[in-house]
Amino acid sequence: MTLNVGVIGTGMIGQDHIRRLTQVLSGVAVTAVNDIDRTRAESAAPEGAEVFDTPQALIRSDTVDAVLICSWGPAHEEQLLDCIAAGKPVFCEKPMVTSEAAALKVMEAEASFGRRLVQVGFMRRFDGDYRRLKAVIDGGGLGLPLMYHSVHRNASVPPGLYTSEMPLNDTLVHDADISRWLLSDEITGVEVRLPRRSRQGVELRDPHIVLLHMAQGAIVDVEISVNIAYGYDIRGEVSCEKGVASLPNRPATVISDQFGIRQAIPEDWRERFIDAYDQEFREWIDAASNGTATGPSAWDGYAATLTADAALRAVDSGSLEKIHMIEKPALYAAEAPLAAE
Ligand code: NAP
Repeated sequence: MTLNVGVIGTGMIGQDHIRRLTQVLSGVAVTAVNDIDRTRAESAAPEGAEVFDTPQALIRSDTVDAVLICSWGPAHEEQLLDCIAAGKPVFCEKPMVTSEAAALKVMEAEASFGRRLVQVGFMRRFDGDYRRLKAVIDGGGLGLPLMYHSVHRNASVPPGLYTSEMPLNDTLVHDADISRWLLSDEITGVEVRLPRRSRQGVELRDPHIVLLHMAQGAIVDVEISVNIAYGYDIRGEVSCEKGVASLPNRPATVISDQFGIRQAIPEDWRERFIDAYDQEFREWIDAASNGTATGPSAWDGYAATLTADAALRAVDSGSLEKIHMIEKPALYAAEAPLAAE
């Protein structure tokens, strides 16, 4: 059986996912596309795909079994609610939504529908290195995890388009989600520290140090540097009671030449997480073909939204900002709590 997918938003990641769905993966076809800019949708549409004028028309079309949302964050809420109303599985790029109220609405709609339809694009959970790291922690041989050190460095971000809020409401969400998943725990509070400002991205507040306080007492520190020039560098190390487990530095190709022995640094997230994105969609295609979703859920999207909101408050207050989650709805409680998928 082929899963017929409609893609909303054909910008940078929408085009990369269309390439993935049409050239890399099997059991799937892109039958419909939509973008606020029709010309962009037309040029991104694979052969045979219909270009729709509105996201709503695409979602309701009989030629679409499941939907991939790659529009910008503020548009996600309405598009997700339309997918749930149509009973169609939907993969939504992060951020799931941009407010707590919107996250609650999405979870309520999904709970009323009665089964999971929403998967959120936290691709790190599908990365082999992160999965091996989680297996070590869950194995218990190192004892309890006490601290997690997460590093998120971008070579650069688009000047003018990437604002000072975005390290906290756009970039941090990946580190927040992977921290919850790796430590099988929820975030209860957030602090933000502002080190000496980099002169690289003059108009931006950069870098940030974020502290995530976990419910069971572990603390996560996250370095977010978004204009660090040398490349896209993602690191992670979990300090446990009896040892330390770390991500390897990727890619691990070692170059030896007249300048010495060195490792190449990925240019951006597409290169570093290329296999993770492929695996994320492999598992989504399987789940969506069975009318449901897997991996990061609307609950995880809700947790990330609350963390981003608390981080933005913490910049202003300079204090620990608490997070208060609702009781986990039964739809999400039924899943293994943050276990490896
Ligand atoms: P982008 O290049 O700006 O593409 C977004 C596209 O959606 C643009 O063509 C935009 O048109 C269009 N659009 C905006 N509102 C729309 C609406 N209401 N209906 C239909 N189309 C709409 O952005 P991007 O970098 O691809 O990011 C898209 C999403 O993916 C964002 O939520 C982003 O955070 C997420 N993302 C995730 C990852 C990851 O690692 N998981 C990486 C990158 C991006 P206009 O430009 O005309 O507004």
